[in-house]
Amino acid sequence: MVESQIDATDPDDPIARQFRLDPREALEVPGFNADPVGDLAANAVPGVLHKYRGRALLVLTGACAVHCRYCFRRHFPYGDQRLDEAALEQALAYLAADPEMTEVILSGGDPLVLSSRRLVSVIERLAALPHLRRLRIHSRIPTVSPERIDDSLCRMLADFPGQVVLVAHVNHPRELGAESAAAFRRLRDAGVTLLNQAVLLEGVNNDTEVLVELSEALFAQGVLPYYLHLLDPVAGAAHFAVDAETGRERIEALRACLPGYLVPRFVVEQAGEPSKTPIG
Ligand SMILES: *Cc1c(COP(=O)(O)O)cnc(C)c1O
Ligand code: SF4
Repeated sequence: MVESQIDATDPDDPIARQFRLDPREALEVPGFNADPVGDLAANAVPGVLHKYRGRALLVLTGACAVHCRYCFRRHFPYGDQRLDEAALEQALAYLAADPEMTEVILSGGDPLVLSSRRLVSVIERLAALPHLRRLRIHSRIPTVSPERIDDSLCRMLADFPGQVVLVAHVNHPRELGAESAAAFRRLRDAGVTLLNQAVLLEGVNNDTEVLVELSEALFAQGVLPYYLHLLDPVAGAAHFAVDAETGRERIEALRACLPGYLVPRFVVEQAGEPSKTPIG
C-alpha cells in the first residue's frame, strides 16, 4: 500500500522520505537522544505508560506495519515490555486500581498489527475495567494496510460497551486514497470517532499548502485533525526537525484559510508535564 503511494520517479517523494533510511541518521546532534519524552520514567508497570491523569497507554506490541524513521519510540526497549499472561494481568490490575482511569489508549507499536483474536481477548478484559469509558487506538493501519480494517475488527469495536476513538497517523494528503476512505468508512459505520495526528516534518509536510490539503483530505474521509506534533528530538531524526517558530507560522496560515475545526492543535511533548504542551 505504501509502495503504491510513492512516486518512484521523485527523489524527494514526501512519503518515501518518512520510511527510507537516510545517512544523516548517523549524525549525533546535541539535544537529540534515545528517550526524548521521558517514556522510561512513565513506565508504571511493564506495558503501561502512565503520564496523564485519567488516561494511560497500553503497549501491546512493539511491531508496526511500517517503520517511520522519525519515530520517537525508535529506541524504546520494547523487549522489556512483552506482555505475557502474567504481565497483562499486572497491567490490567494497575489500570483497574486507578479510579480516575477512564480511557485506555492502545498504542505501541501499532496495536492493529495484532490478530483479531488477540485483540478481542485484550479488549474484552479492558471492557471489564471498572472505570473505563473509552477505548482509544493509535494506529497507522487505516492508511498503510487498509484491508486490515475488516469485518471482524469492526464488529469487535462496535461491540465495545464504551466509546471507541481511533487516532490515525497521516502526515501527507497523498497517503489518503480510495482504500483509506473505505477503511475509515467501515470504522465510522462501527461507531468509531476518527481523529488524526501528524508530525511536522521537514521534507514531508513543512508547507502550508500541503497542511491545508491534509486537513481537507482527512475531513473528506471523515477524520478530524487532532494534533500536529513538533518533532520529538529522538536520536537519528534531526534532519526531520522543523523549529517551533516555523510551525507557529504554519498554524497561523492554516487558521487564516480553514474553519477552526480543521486546524490541528500544535503541540510538543515535554517530559514531566501533565499534558501535551500547546505551542503558541
Ligand atoms: C500523548 C499521550 C497520551 C494522550 O494524550 P492526549 O492529550 O489525551 O491525546 C496519553 N498518555 C501518554 C503516555 C501519552 O504520551
Ligand atoms: S507507526 Fe507510530 S509507533 Fe510505529 S514507527 Fe511510525 S511513529 Fe513509530
